[in-house]
Amino acid sequence: MFSKTRRRLFHTTTVRVAFWYTALFSLSSFGLFGISYFYLHSTLNRFTDSELVETASELGRLYQESGMEALRSELQREAKSWGQERAFFLLRGVRGEIIVSSDLQPWGDDVPAFAPAMLPAAADGVQMATLRLPGRSADIRLVTAPIADGLFLQIGQDLQDNARIMREFRRAFLAALAIMLVCGSAVGFLVARRAMSGVRRMALVASHIGKDNLQKRVPLDARSQEIDDLTRAFNAMLERIELLVRELREVTDNVAHDLRSPITRIRGLAEAAATTPQGAESYRSAMGEIVAESDRLVGIIDTMLEITETEAGVVPMTGEQVDLSALLRDAHDLFTPMAEQKGVSLELRLPAHGVAVWGDRARLQRVVGNLLDNAIKYTPYGGHVATTIETAGTEVRIRVSDDGVGIEEDELHRVFERFYRGDKSRSTHGNGLGLSLARAIVQAHHGEITVNSTAGKGSDFTVTLPRTAAQ
Ligand code: ADP
Repeated sequence: MFSKTRRRLFHTTTVRVAFWYTALFSLSSFGLFGISYFYLHSTLNRFTDSELVETASELGRLYQESGMEALRSELQREAKSWGQERAFFLLRGVRGEIIVSSDLQPWGDDVPAFAPAMLPAAADGVQMATLRLPGRSADIRLVTAPIADGLFLQIGQDLQDNARIMREFRRAFLAALAIMLVCGSAVGFLVARRAMSGVRRMALVASHIGKDNLQKRVPLDARSQEIDDLTRAFNAMLERIELLVRELREVTDNVAHDLRSPITRIRGLAEAAATTPQGAESYRSAMGEIVAESDRLVGIIDTMLEITETEAGVVPMTGEQVDLSALLRDAHDLFTPMAEQKGVSLELRLPAHGVAVWGDRARLQRVVGNLLDNAIKYTPYGGHVATTIETAGTEVRIRVSDDGVGIEEDELHRVFERFYRGDKSRSTHGNGLGLSLARAIVQAHHGEITVNSTAGKGSDFTVTLPRTAAQ
């Protein structure tokens, strides 16, 4: 149980960021410490060495200028000033015998025995060595320098001071590191926590979103650009989900409503035929009506499926070069009888040059067919419907305008919804799917369909397609 909680805690981004921050921080601090330690150590050693070499050469000069006695007393003086127990001064012969020395009493047996390796290789060279003597806590740095033929000056210095400085340095560093680690991990944790606060807010809102309160949104914070971008994307996603759920509800309501009437009618006809004894002629007519209603039902279901499939891109569009002028001319010919029957005049204005787009000819025919069908349907006797093609840059626009009943302003944004039928259209035939299908097809061609309309004055539907669509 405890280990599970601990594992979950470690799996939070905040704790992991804080952990990695602290780990990297410690690693770099140790690296820095290593470099500084090495640098300080070698600098101290360099100072010690140069002091030893300098003193040896000064003493050598003194011997050459003033002789053995002067050297002897100078050795005593130097040893006193350096500290008798911390340094010794020896003048040795070639075989290592001590000729003159400082007071060696404080050193007892610790004075290093002579080893020929101590002697410099070259007559004018200086030999440096570090010795570890069993009785002493710190190392001894030893310089051996030739000062005359067969005479070698040897100075040994205890490195205790250097060792103490290094010890202090280590202690100070460890103390600073401990403080920095505690503060650093706390700061790391707080920074990570603050950075993650937007994500937590989002998670909180997401956990409260149920099917009935999809309208909740995560507030923007303005503290972090990235989190705000994420919040905006998350809110936009919620918006789309809310829209989809609303559409789904409406579609379900509409489907139920639109399918109910024909089914009820079919049932009524069948019931009447079954319960009322009638002649063969009236049975035949009832059956004919049932077939017609069933066809209408199948038509609605097929159109719904087609819209869904087109929107989802399940059925691939066949791609070909479609001559729009020819397509509009055919549609115009097809709808002329219907328009004449209604007393509506049809006009077709085409550019002198041919206009082609890349797309699915049969589906584009359905788009134009639906728009013309609507225009004629919603334009009363004596009205006028015009179809035009315009080109602008890489776009081509097909415009179907009429001077019919028009669309109320509050209905305009709904006409492309599935099953939506305007108030005035209830009396005309239709199922409210034509414009939804048109929009799905146009969008599948990377285009858009828009409407402009004034109630009582007429409507203007525009399909904009890229001239190189889907190529
Ligand atoms: P239907 O025509 O079968 O009702 P549509 O999807 O084709 O379904 O159109 C949806 C609604 O848009 C129509 O019910 C109607 O109210 C309105 N509409 C479409 N075209 C026009 C038009 N040219 N003039 C006026 N209203 C229109």
